[in-house]
Amino acid sequence: MQDASVHYDRVTDAWQAIMGDNLHFGYFESGEGDLERATKRLIDIMLEPCGLTRRSRVLDAGCGIGGPACYIHGKTGCEVIGISTSVRGIATAGEYALCKRCSGCVRFELADAQDNGLPDRSFDVVWVMESSHLMPDKHALFRESRRVLREGGTIVLCDIMLFGVMPFFRKVGHYLLNGSKYLRLLRTFGKAGLNSPGTYCNGLREAGFREITVRDITAETVRTLRCWRDNAKASGVVAPGRFSEKEAMEFMRACDILEDFFARGIFGYALISARL
Ligand code: SAH
Repeated sequence: MQDASVHYDRVTDAWQAIMGDNLHFGYFESGEGDLERATKRLIDIMLEPCGLTRRSRVLDAGCGIGGPACYIHGKTGCEVIGISTSVRGIATAGEYALCKRCSGCVRFELADAQDNGLPDRSFDVVWVMESSHLMPDKHALFRESRRVLREGGTIVLCDIMLFGVMPFFRKVGHYLLNGSKYLRLLRTFGKAGLNSPGTYCNGLREAGFREITVRDITAETVRTLRCWRDNAKASGVVAPGRFSEKEAMEFMRACDILEDFFARGIFGYALISARL
């Protein structure tokens, strides 16, 4: 199975056509509305515990194609460094920042958030938006986040998480019954390591974070899957960088599976923040 960098290099252009500049779920206030607004709304909600000013520095760990980093800078005036392991993503993000005229305060680097090589205590906020599920070593992510944060700094994170905690034998049965669905999810969304909100909290606590808050926003985010499916249906045209009709179909089926897992309480979507 491809690692996250290879997977994202392959899907970045096609996903941009389906999801827009923000490669994350949307937050739909009343269960309806358009995807672009909802993805920005999720950024706004994540910004709430951050307390950013023009003088703040943010590390965007798993920055996609730069949508969130430029939006955060546009809203607060702060400096943002985005990192990702995808060469394609970093190149697109750099062009995007130029386009948005924020390349002076927003820059992007190829780096792994589990071992980022950035200086100690140099950021006020570490921003982990829908990228942690792609990082096999969450302890390393939290350790590195702690290292680069200044005293009093904040980590804020949102992602799909494992909500249905099952006893051992039920779990075995579940994976046997749903094996082909998990394989399809793996092919479409890449190799993911989903954890429960409790596991995230324990990891953060062990890394030295405190004031940990968790918010279940499954109900507000699940509509994203319908939007992605509709957009994939419309984008199933053979063009460079876009999905073929077959790939678009695969993507739509994967959205159906995720929607079903959300509805059955197996997966959910949560927002976590913590302070040093
Ligand atoms: N946060 C962005 C992108 C989410 S997609 C947004 O909301 O738009 C997940 C991102 O995480 C991709 O850019 C992928 O390349 C990146 N990623 C995956 N594993 C990573 C790692 N170990 N270190 C840094 N970035 C990683």
